[in-house]
Amino acid sequence: MSRKPFIAGNWKMHNTVEESVNLIEGLKAAKNKNNADIMVAPSFTSLNAVVKASAGTGFKVAAQDCYYEDKGAFTSQVSPVQVKGTGATHVILGHSERRSLFGDTDEILNKKVGAALNHGLVIVFCVGETLEQRESGKTEKVIKDQLVNGLKGFGAEQLKDLVIAYEPVWAIGTGKTATPEQAQDTHKAIRAMLAEQLGKEFAAGVRILYGGSVKADNVDAIMAKEDVDGVLVGGQSLIAEKFNRIIDYN
Ligand code: PEP
Repeated sequence: MSRKPFIAGNWKMHNTVEESVNLIEGLKAAKNKNNADIMVAPSFTSLNAVVKASAGTGFKVAAQDCYYEDKGAFTSQVSPVQVKGTGATHVILGHSERRSLFGDTDEILNKKVGAALNHGLVIVFCVGETLEQRESGKTEKVIKDQLVNGLKGFGAEQLKDLVIAYEPVWAIGTGKTATPEQAQDTHKAIRAMLAEQLGKEFAAGVRILYGGSVKADNVDAIMAKEDVDGVLVGGQSLIAEKFNRIIDYN
């Protein structure tokens, strides 16, 4: 099955509103020769400005997280209703920094998945193992638990637009990239897990992105792998020329 490529940039806690808008202006130079879906995930503060600056480009705009309640006394949290209100259409859930620094457990993420689905946000759901887990042979078990518990209670129809991002924790922001073979093997395993959990048709169609120190000089080899449908990029998505080269991978 042919799956549309999906190239995503996670800007993390970088960029003021003005810097975010400037970055969007720089990304307009990408040719998008692979006809990919292009997504950017700015901070909450820049979401609306980025939506406006992206008008006419086709760029998808994502929040980097959202809370699971619609509204209420939850100081500092941002609800899926508020995310939708900015004009954003996507949300990243389960990024390893959310899991490790801010206490997002599988149970919390499961509630966030439900809330995001309720409000029609497209979810990019991140999974991945630590170095210790990989070295002790637990990679597949860890990812399976993240998928089973994080997506519990939702069926293939509800999750039809879901995008998965495989991000080995040891490769995020470290300069260490999984080899294309490691990425392919894990993506294939994830597809098999999803076939078991949500059916073969779902698994054949779902897009699985690789994330972890993706850059101009490794993106081509990673994207060449059969089960890699795109990339989720951190650091290199902050510089327009670099991200544009990633968007226009060979
Ligand atoms: C990320 O944070 O999702 C990520 C992959 O970061 P980097 O590309 O900087 O490793």
